[in-house]
Amino acid sequence: MGFYEELGLRTVINASGTLTRLGGSRMAPETLAAMAEAAAAFVPIDELQARAGEIIAGNTGAEAGYVVSGAAAGLSLGVAACIAGMDVAAMDRLPDTTGLKDEVVVQRGHRNAYDHAIRAAGVRMVEVGYLGYPGAGGTYGWQIAGAISERTAAVACPILDTPGTLSLPEVCQIAHERGVPVIVDAAAELPPRGNLRRFIAEGADLVVFSGGKAIGGPQASGILAGRADLIASVALQHQDMDVRAQTWAWRPLLEAGHLSGIPHQGFGRAMKVGREEIAGLVTALRRYAAGSDDDDLERWQRCLDPIEQALVGLPGVTVSHHLSPRRPLPSLRLSFDGDSPGTRAYDVVNRLMGGDPAIALDQSAAELGSLTVNPQGLTVDEAAIVAQRLRRVLG
Ligand SMILES: *Cc1c(COP(=O)(O)O)cnc(C)c1O
Repeated sequence: MGFYEELGLRTVINASGTLTRLGGSRMAPETLAAMAEAAAAFVPIDELQARAGEIIAGNTGAEAGYVVSGAAAGLSLGVAACIAGMDVAAMDRLPDTTGLKDEVVVQRGHRNAYDHAIRAAGVRMVEVGYLGYPGAGGTYGWQIAGAISERTAAVACPILDTPGTLSLPEVCQIAHERGVPVIVDAAAELPPRGNLRRFIAEGADLVVFSGGKAIGGPQASGILAGRADLIASVALQHQDMDVRAQTWAWRPLLEAGHLSGIPHQGFGRAMKVGREEIAGLVTALRRYAAGSDDDDLERWQRCLDPIEQALVGLPGVTVSHHLSPRRPLPSLRLSFDGDSPGTRAYDVVNRLMGGDPAIALDQSAAELGSLTVNPQGLTVDEAAIVAQRLRRVLG
């Protein structure tokens, strides 16, 4: 009997993408093996993080890298580093930012639910820009420039293409002229693989990616890549710091006067990662970087084709195929006709999840009467089951 079965749980066929609430992505056997192997021996975590960081740097073009417990944790830790730098007393005070830089500037059209992770570091979001002209979330450069002050810890720039918002290179230019770092939330911006390097190349000081989404690493893992001084601050605020000056591996920092003392358990200690997550993330990242967007696209297309074929000619539903030029990730959209298409869409979601096996579709546009089949979490065999069940439920 399997683990989930023994607990009385049904597993789900995931046609909804890399959703955290279903477990993210499926790890490859090689990734699982690396985690099991890592768990079977002890290793100094600071040394393991340093090696993992070099591998992250090599795959992102950043100066340095770090394994975090998710992209959201990467945002919290990244902002903590922008606030405290190498100031041990400031590290100790966080998330109380009294007397410290306590603001993060963001474009209004970039606000999203994950900025809670930024605020967790003790900062207040300072919004600039309009809703409306020159685009749904229009911002002028002078608005960002005018919002930056000696209280600004960072400018946050999540990768959302809200029309009218300033691009990352424009934001970086304005922020850097004023000595302020830019932190990029690119949690779900893979594929394309080129994005692993793109945001660093465009000037970001720190970039976060989820490890448990497209990369296929452990669900509770993520990547923080960027400036070496900020990554060093992250390490000091994240790792177990119950150390002694006489034996601490980083004691040269004390001797050189770069640190006024040893920080104790910091802000990030509540977001720790184990050697298993680090091993899994590194293995998954290497696999992902060695793969190709075209191969993924072909595999995903093989999952979607039978579903699309099964749905042609069903009454009351229009099936369309989507592929954005920016994002090599195909999907199928089922749009319901009739009076209350949103109600029908939610009803279909509930019937699929209540069936056996349970099937999850992407319901982010259900309100508007459409559901999306996202192939990232599907095998070809599962896709055949999805095709069959959808036909029955919609027929
Ligand atoms: C998924 C996501 C996150 C959170 O990533 P985790 O790795 O789950 O912590 C943050 N921001 C955006 C835009 C996301 O899509």
